[in-house]
Amino acid sequence: MGFIKVAAALQLILSSISAAPTGVIGLEKNAVSQSPIVYDAVIVGGGPAGLSAVSGLARVRRKVLLIDSGEYRNDPTRHMHDVIGADGLSPPFFRWKARGQLAYYESASLINGTVTTIKAATSNITSTVQDAPFTVRATLPSGEERTVGARGIILATGLRDIIPDTPGLQQNWGKGIYWCPWCDGNEHADQALGILSPLIDAASSVQEISTLNSDIIAFVNGTYTPEARAATEKKFPNWEKYLELRNIKIENRTIAGLVRLADGGANEHPEAPTFPEHDLFRFP
Ligand SMILES: Cc1cc2nc3c(=O)[nH]c(=O)nc-3n(C[C@H](O)[C@H](O)[C@H](O)COP(=O)(O)OP(=O)(O)OC[C@H]3O[C@@H](n4cnc5c(N)ncnc54)[C@H](O)[C@@H]3O)c2cc1C
Repeated sequence: MGFIKVAAALQLILSSISAAPTGVIGLEKNAVSQSPIVYDAVIVGGGPAGLSAVSGLARVRRKVLLIDSGEYRNDPTRHMHDVIGADGLSPPFFRWKARGQLAYYESASLINGTVTTIKAATSNITSTVQDAPFTVRATLPSGEERTVGARGIILATGLRDIIPDTPGLQQNWGKGIYWCPWCDGNEHADQALGILSPLIDAASSVQEISTLNSDIIAFVNGTYTPEARAATEKKFPNWEKYLELRNIKIENRTIAGLVRLADGGANEHPEAPTFPEHDLFRFP
């Protein structure tokens, strides 16, 4: 079992930003030429990465436009962790706070919308927007289409998790079923833990979480085969001994579904950045 991460992480393709005039900006057309506004940079995506990029550019008065379609990877989670200064905040509150801070910078604009095309001017193709290396087209929530020019583009479009369609997995994703010990492990420390993983990654996953949990079953979803055992030995020599010493059991049957028995979000602490979340699941 497990999930595959697709799409690229933050890619910085900020290129050829020249010294440009700064000042109050908007999406309206340039008053003199009637051509679309040309930004120093258009940032695609308004999660932590995109918002940070706005800050870096706006603080040196680059004319910057952030366009965000609002489908955040960490949307299902209760609280964000391991972002120092923001430990335990809810992601929407974090973004609201960041947007409030960015509102003080006149050269930054943030809008909701989906970027549908980015065209680069090449030696053969000239950009639709005059004098802009990039032409960006976006659909706004109203359905209206907008075109702007940009000297650089930052793709801060994040990642998408592809969760197996095992009943109960997607529904509880981010709420007691988590992928990263730094994000949610401390809140589930010392609880009985199931690791969903192919055999080859089971021992390294146990190792990763070993300072937090000891009562662990590795659910390897039918991957306990002679070939996988050999491959695991190559990747993690003496893995069987490692698991045996820690009393970690391996369950090779496929999980048909998950049913929630207890909700770790039921007892929120109003102030503490971290507190135990007692989630409990049963396999029907
Ligand atoms: C359940 C869960 C919990 C997590 N918890 C933590 C945690 O506690 N601590 C931590 O550090 N990390 C955590 N993470 C990882 C977390 O997702 C990242 O740290 C962080 O939120 C990623 O930020 P980002 O800006 O790269 O992407 P996102 O926040 O996903 O933002 C990307 C944005 O780009 C937008 N976008 C994409 N395409 C377009 C387009 N064509 N036009 C316009 N906009 C577009 C998307 O709609 C989205 O709004 C967690 C992940 C998951 C899945």
